[in-house]
Amino acid sequence: MIEIKNYIGGKLCAARSGSVLTGQNPADGSDIWHCPDSDAADVGAAVQAASEAFGSWKKFDVSKRSSILLRIADIIESKNDELAELESKDTGKPVWLCKEVDIPRSAANFRFFAKAVTQYHSETYDMGQRGFNYTLRDPLGVVGCISPWNLPLYLLSWKIAPALAAGNTVVAKPSEVTPLSAFYLSEICKKAGLPEGVLNICHGFGDKVGQALIDHPGVKAVSFTGGTLTGKKIAAACASRLIPCSLELGGKNAALVYADCEFDHTVNELVRSCFTNQGQICLCTERILVEESIYEKFKTAFISRTSKLKVGDPTCSESDLGALVSGDHTRKVMDWVKTAESEGATILFGGKNVKIEGLVGHFLEPTVIEGLSNACHINQEEVFGPVVTLQKFSNLDESVNLANGTRYGLSATIWSGSLKTCHEVAAKLQVGIVWVNSWLLRDLRTPFGGMKQSGLGREGGRDALDFFTESKNVCIHYDKL
Ligand code: NDP
Repeated sequence: MIEIKNYIGGKLCAARSGSVLTGQNPADGSDIWHCPDSDAADVGAAVQAASEAFGSWKKFDVSKRSSILLRIADIIESKNDELAELESKDTGKPVWLCKEVDIPRSAANFRFFAKAVTQYHSETYDMGQRGFNYTLRDPLGVVGCISPWNLPLYLLSWKIAPALAAGNTVVAKPSEVTPLSAFYLSEICKKAGLPEGVLNICHGFGDKVGQALIDHPGVKAVSFTGGTLTGKKIAAACASRLIPCSLELGGKNAALVYADCEFDHTVNELVRSCFTNQGQICLCTERILVEESIYEKFKTAFISRTSKLKVGDPTCSESDLGALVSGDHTRKVMDWVKTAESEGATILFGGKNVKIEGLVGHFLEPTVIEGLSNACHINQEEVFGPVVTLQKFSNLDESVNLANGTRYGLSATIWSGSLKTCHEVAAKLQVGIVWVNSWLLRDLRTPFGGMKQSGLGREGGRDALDFFTESKNVCIHYDKL
């Protein structure tokens, strides 16, 4: 049993109340950790520690801040396999996926922002004979970073790294469902020589720890990734105190497949984009829209490719899909499949639980559904599981209308050999991220975030450093100098 601790003021400590939560490995149901069931008192102590650390951290030379963050990246990288196994145990996702994606990307987040901040510069505006302006960008102070369970260390580090690089101190709240890698990050930060109080991590439930964090008067901004409903609560709390918030929320991402696409590449990449991490990535494709002239051919090839995926033990390198994160979440995903059936859907493939010998966890077949209009629940609401629907379209306008016909606007993919089609469709899509003939090809310099109900603001690259700093313009009048 792993005894997870909060990380406050550089110390690893239990919740002040002494209360603990117990967590299970979603693949085999075994108890694997106890973690602090923290509350407002722990958050208060963490904000206090972060406030005390802010004065000196913001004055650190930027190269010194950068070198500490690079050390954190190096340690994460050196512990890639160990962290990957922990992340897999906590989430149910295949170990190979954690080794290839989750942990390397967490190291990359620290490395990227450690370097980016050394190149971060502000503007000057020349007023000719009269004077000039220069803009200072100051860190905000103590910021709150709240992250979900689907990519635990990957998304936590995506927030913490730019916040720290820009000179803020942080109180972070990882998902209570998957706290393990955040706990190991605390130990890594201690080893890397991060000064006490610069990063603080409070474990526990969203409605206790998360709420106390967003309501705390000492917190100057909140960066949040999670569901749209929670995001709205956070936006309301931040609005009432007039502090900035950045929200990366849910999606209902469409793939638009045109008849002139490179067929085999499209099918293979779409299978990956629908089922990676058991469909539990905010950027996963949940709706595939196919031009009607290739619909039947696409459907046959897509099902054939999907049927070759292996659902299995996350520790086994042949498993393409592991377990879903919890029993509750699995039931939610299955309820969506049942709703789709009750609305007249045809389940073309999957739709059932999978029994894995020797494991009692939450495994689902990758599921492909057709026969429903875009207005049906399954085409409107985020499922966040290994479930995708197929719909056909007859022309470009219809494809764009279908893609845009939900309240979400996170990402979309376009599959076509025509540059004209790709440009035209990309410009018309109401989403924050468009991939053309690819999926999840990430460049950390680019703006990342969603439109409509998928978020507010952008993170990534310069946008993240801008979010975690506040500008102050200084105007110099030459005549009076
Ligand atoms: P939730 O919104 O339920 O939770 C996200 C985080 O917020 C958790 O740490 C949670 O704690 C915390 N939280 C819950 N209630 C509050 C509150 N009142 N105040 C402050 N914090 C709170 O999302 P999930 O964890 O279920 O994650 C899945 C969702 O995340 C999906 O909708 C997915 O699309 C979205 N997501 C978006 C991404 C993007 O970049 N746009 C990327 C990845 C996921 P606790 O765990 O204890 O409830």
